[in-house]
Amino acid sequence: MPSLQSLLDEVDHRADEIVALEQDLVRIPSINTGFMPTGNETRVAEYCRDWLAGEGIESRILGRDPERGNLIAVLPGRDSKTRLMLMSHTDVVPVENASKWRFEPFSATVSGGRVYGRGASDCKQLLTSQLMAVAVLKRNGVRLEQGVRLVSGADEEHGGRWGFGWLADKHAESLESELAVNEGGGNAVEMGGNLVYLLGIGEKGRLEVHIRLKGESAHASVPWVGKNAGFVLAEALKRIEAYKPELDTSLPLFDYLSEFAIEDKPTPKNVDRIVAHVEPENRSLATLLRALSRMTLTPTMVKGGVKSNSVPESIELTCDVRTLPFQNEAYLRKQLDAVLAGLEGVEYDVDYMSVPNTSPYKTEFAEAVKRAQAVAIGRKDIRWAPMVSNGFTDSRFTRNIGIVTYGFKGVHPDDDPALTNVHGTNESTGILTLISSTKAMIALAYDVCGGR
Ligand SMILES: [Zn+2]
Repeated sequence: MPSLQSLLDEVDHRADEIVALEQDLVRIPSINTGFMPTGNETRVAEYCRDWLAGEGIESRILGRDPERGNLIAVLPGRDSKTRLMLMSHTDVVPVENASKWRFEPFSATVSGGRVYGRGASDCKQLLTSQLMAVAVLKRNGVRLEQGVRLVSGADEEHGGRWGFGWLADKHAESLESELAVNEGGGNAVEMGGNLVYLLGIGEKGRLEVHIRLKGESAHASVPWVGKNAGFVLAEALKRIEAYKPELDTSLPLFDYLSEFAIEDKPTPKNVDRIVAHVEPENRSLATLLRALSRMTLTPTMVKGGVKSNSVPESIELTCDVRTLPFQNEAYLRKQLDAVLAGLEGVEYDVDYMSVPNTSPYKTEFAEAVKRAQAVAIGRKDIRWAPMVSNGFTDSRFTRNIGIVTYGFKGVHPDDDPALTNVHGTNESTGILTLISSTKAMIALAYDVCGGR
């Protein structure tokens, strides 16, 4: 009957093995361009299946497309049900300019205590740690009351229609669990001398608004004969830039600002002052407070004109919109109607890319996550605050089918978040985080699934 501490000690002894596993995963270039055929996540899933088989853990690969498989592994407990799901994804975003990288992006080079490569942090670090966590539980003959499930999905970076979205829709049994942890939270913030971890409890909504601006075509040599849609675009852009979103401080994070040594009670009136005050000490916290206190409306693409000598008759402006959990489509339409009021020849439509979603914060599961993080990094002074993230992950699919899902990765506080560069040049993960994350996943499973 291994104690939890002996399992955590074993992780330290296996640091080289953890790094090598991460390197192997990063070296499989599972790039997801968003256009089929793409991803080839099956190669990652097969690698994991074989690696797990070597540990005596069974898994299977399920996919809507044979090249885009999802990995599902189960470490059974005494009970036939699995209680906890460890989630991650196998695809990575493309590399924009490989020549700007210090090391070849799929070389998984180790330098300065970090592993460099596309996907090193997002999301192969978490996948590595979760694989090693179930392996350590298995190798040591830990007996669980209830089982643990490890699911790594395809296509997270392009909406999850081949991954968790498809699994939730067509194979919900493959996700069977009450509780889950995934990317999208669990970051450490140092502020006012406190170490605060942000537990991911939800996500803002993401929508695309397509605004069509109409004019009337004419030969460009006699422009007065027509009506240039470009000038309507100019006015629309000016108004969007001047748009002042309604401010709101009702998300739970705002009830926990004292954890960051911020003494002001936040209100819609003073929130921008608080943001300005936080900014010099901690830019990322300031950005988070700003994103969680308002809807954003951001023009991102313009399409229009047919010929260099024709007055354009129609132009389409695309905007990215991020809504707070309680702001619905009717709310967004009211805002847009006000912004575009009186502009002639303007219509728009709204597409949901991701609906906002949340899990409750005050749960026994959250307490287990806090204990897991504390033992993983050996610190008793951690503070916590619930965060809604401004991006979205596969967690929306599992929250939708009733699984309490937290963004929690077990990152190490001494691992500089500025170096991870997720989706950017020189993406990397700290080896410290590979190790603390493995420990956190073990501790969480041991605790939540009744290990002994
Ligand atoms: Zn990711």
